[in-house]
This record gives sequence, C-alpha cells and structure tokens, in this order.
Amino acid sequence: MTHSTNKQALSNPIFTVISDAAKELNIDCYVIGGFVRDFLLKKGTAKDIDIVAIGSGIDLAKKVASKLKGKPEVSVFKNFGTAMIKYNDVELEFVGARKESYHEDSRKPVVEDGTLEDDQKRRDFTINALAISLNETNYGALLDPFNGIQDLEDKILRTPLAPGITYSDDPLRMMRAIRFATQLNFKIEDASLQAITENKDRIKIISKERIVDELHKILASSKPSLGFSLLHKTELLEYILPELTALQGIEEIEGQRHKDNFWHTLEVVDNISENTDNVWLRWAALLHDIGKAPTKRFDKKIGWTFHAHEFIGSKMVAKLFKRLRMPLNDKMKFVQKMVLLSSRPIILSEDFATDSAVRRLIFDAGEHIEDLMTLCEADITTKNPKKQKRYKDNFKLVRQKIVEVEERDHVRNFQPPISGEEIMETFNLKPSKEIGILKEAIKEAILEGEIPNEYEAAYKLMIQKGKSMGFFIEQKS
Ligand code: ATP
Ligand code: MG
Repeated sequence: MTHSTNKQALSNPIFTVISDAAKELNIDCYVIGGFVRDFLLKKGTAKDIDIVAIGSGIDLAKKVASKLKGKPEVSVFKNFGTAMIKYNDVELEFVGARKESYHEDSRKPVVEDGTLEDDQKRRDFTINALAISLNETNYGALLDPFNGIQDLEDKILRTPLAPGITYSDDPLRMMRAIRFATQLNFKIEDASLQAITENKDRIKIISKERIVDELHKILASSKPSLGFSLLHKTELLEYILPELTALQGIEEIEGQRHKDNFWHTLEVVDNISENTDNVWLRWAALLHDIGKAPTKRFDKKIGWTFHAHEFIGSKMVAKLFKRLRMPLNDKMKFVQKMVLLSSRPIILSEDFATDSAVRRLIFDAGEHIEDLMTLCEADITTKNPKKQKRYKDNFKLVRQKIVEVEERDHVRNFQPPISGEEIMETFNLKPSKEIGILKEAIKEAILEGEIPNEYEAAYKLMIQKGKSMGFFIEQKS
C-alpha cells in the first residue's frame, strides 16, 4: 500500500485542518477504524470519522473546532475522554490513545494514556485497527501492526489480541463480529468463533439496546441469514431470541414430518430482503412463524398442525419487543399485524379467491396490504419448481384481484358510510351498544358484497335493520 493511495482517503479538506490543529498542539493524531476500513474496501468514505490523538482528544477537538468555519460546537464526554463535532455532513469523534484493562463484571475498562499501538490493540478487529497518519512527517502513511490489510484481502475477522480475552473483556464484540461478518460477507476466524461460543453467557452484561442495535444492522444487511446462522452456531441466539431457536428441528410421527421452521424462517428473511429495505418488514419475516413452536400438535388424522399460530405469534411479538426493550409503538403494532395476517393471502391463493375474501383481506390489512403481499411471497420456499411457479402465479392473481376490488369498493382505508351520530339521530337513540351493532351490520354487508360501499345503500340497510330491531324513525319537522 503506497502513501499516495491513502492520501485519497484524506481528500476531505477537514483532514488538513485536523493535521494543522495537531501540529499546533504538538501532538500526533491518526484517522482510525471504520473510516479507514471502508475506504480500503472501496465502500466510499464513511461519514463518521474517528480520530485518535496521542494526547488529549478533547483538546484536539476544541482546537479543530476553533479553526472551522462557523466554529461548530464541541460535545465533550469527559467520563469517556472523548469529544464530538458535527460539521457539514460528517461526524468527527476524537479520543486520546489509551490502554485498557477490564474487570470480570463490566464492559467498562480501566483506562490509562497509551501509545498508538496500545490503542490499536484495544480495537475489536484487525480490520478496525487500521490507522492513517495525519502527521506532517508521514502524512497518509498506513499503520497496520496486526496485518489488517491482509485480513481485508482474505475477508476474515480476527482480533488483535487473543480472542478469548477480547470477547470476554467486552462481549458486545461478539455481536459486532457477527454483524461485520454479515455486512461485509467476511468469515470469522475459527479461534474467534470458538471463543464466542465459550463466552456466550457473557452477553448477559450487555444492554438489550446495544444487542438490538446490532440485530438491526444484521437484519438490514443484504443476506441476514449469514448473521442469524452465526448467532445460532455460537448459541448466542438462544439467549437473544429463544423464540427462534425453538423453531429448530424436524419431528416425525407415524412417517409424517413437518419442515424445519427455523431454517425456513431464515430463507424467508433472505427472500424478503431482496424486495424491501424496510427493517420492520424484515422483522416481521423473522418472527412470522414464532407461534409455531407453542402451537405444534400431532393429529392422527390430519398430521402436524399449528393451530392459531399467527394469533399466538402476534401476542409473542409484544412480549419479545418488551423483553428486548424495543419500541412498543406503531412499529411493533405493524410487526404484530403482519404476523397475525401472515397466512391469509396464502389461503386465498390456494383456493378460488372470492371478492368478499379479498375485500376482507384489504379491510384487515389496510394501508399495509402491499407489505403483507411482499411477506407472503417471500414465504414461498418450496424447492419444487412446479409448486414454486404455481404459488407465484396464484399470488399474481391475488394481487390483480386486490387492485380490481379496491378500485371498485374502496375498503382499504375503510370509513363507515354512516356515522354513529347519524344512526342516533335517525332513531333518536342515546349512545348504546345497539349503535355498534348497526354499524357492524353495515360494515359486514359491505365486506360480504351484499351492498355496495355507498351512502344510499347503507342508509337503506340501516333503516331496514333498525326497524327490525324495534327502533322508530325520528320524524324531522
Ligand atoms: P460502523 O460505523 O460501520 O458501525 P465502525 O467500525 O466505524 O463501523 P464504530 O462503532 O463506529 O464502528 O466504532 C469505530 C471504531 O471503534 C471501530 O472501527 C473500532 O476500531 C472501535 N470500536 C468500536 N466498538 C468497539 C468495541 N466494542 N471494542 C473494541 N473496539 C471498538
Ligand atoms: Mg463508525
């Protein structure tokens, strides 16, 4: 690697400013970590830039800020000895080079000042320990004490220190290893994989939020199954998402087998990732079958059943989100809804899809009907090409039918054509459960196709139904 190639990494004029600031303070500094790695991987230049100073990172940050146009604010994290500057579209993170030592029960190390190499040693992977000099004497030089360059070429994740120590010191690195392996499509070296498996219980000292951050990144990758099979292999998954590991395995009774729903799920997640970047829809794919473990039964007549697994699964989603401290908001409700409805389009496609069945599906899925179809198409994992084609063709028909029915009936964002108030006024009623019954009857008649989704028809039905319930029409004067 020549110096000039690395100078391309430093094309952003900000690096000259940092270099000058360091010179004025008479300290050395380097750009390190993800920025260097991604540049060497030709992934462009990352927008978060980590700078390590051989001296005070906070002082360097302040000096840099004073030299920048508009004098951006410096956020100082005194306890961590770090400082951050947001400038234009980049985030600069400054830290003083440090030596770290760890205690058994915490991932917070005891920190002392150190050399560049001390600092590189505390990094998680050799490919994340690469540094480029910002110093006048060797500006642009690459400092690679652990052969990170070679590992980038070999596409392998190795730790600078012995893996056992690295993962035990900070178990978050186990998640990071698997996340980087997934994002970059790298292998994790055997010694590391073994160390992760041995230290898997230490994941307990990591906050749920940090774990979920890494899960999100795995799920957002182009082939998430890489990460989930590594989590499975190292047995971390059992701690993080036991609902998924419970799906693993094939049982056979009286010659009847069911599919392995764990490996099936991973296929579904990979499939859907080809068609959507919506990470919540990918979560839905990951969790769409979790209700199958607790509902699995064997019936002598019909074989394996997973009765109401969609309903049970959607309940489990809420518990799982809570346990992992994930947001309990509309994102969760979306995932629950997708899980709850995940078998509906399949049932439709297997049989002749009646208009009313399609109307009900549109009504239930509402604005998420497209996402639901995307999920169900991803759920086709049969290896039989004939079946594969038949299912896909059937889904095309269902999609077509959805468009036709929706154009005609507009039930996607269903608004009752007759309001509760109008019912009360018409029959001179006070708020009561009868109003709800009437409204429901109108909605049902529309979904069943007995009346069109129009005011006139709905009004007529209301009068008829109201009379049959013994109500009288209020005469307007
Ligand atoms: P990305 O930003 O794409 O997630 P990154 O490598 O930049 O990747 P950051 O979390 O931004 O990851 O961390 C920046 C650098 O800090 C890393 O490249 C690595 O050198 C170091 N680092 C981060 N977290 C750890 C950790 N838990 N243990 C050791 N080193 C770490
Ligand atoms: Mg980064």
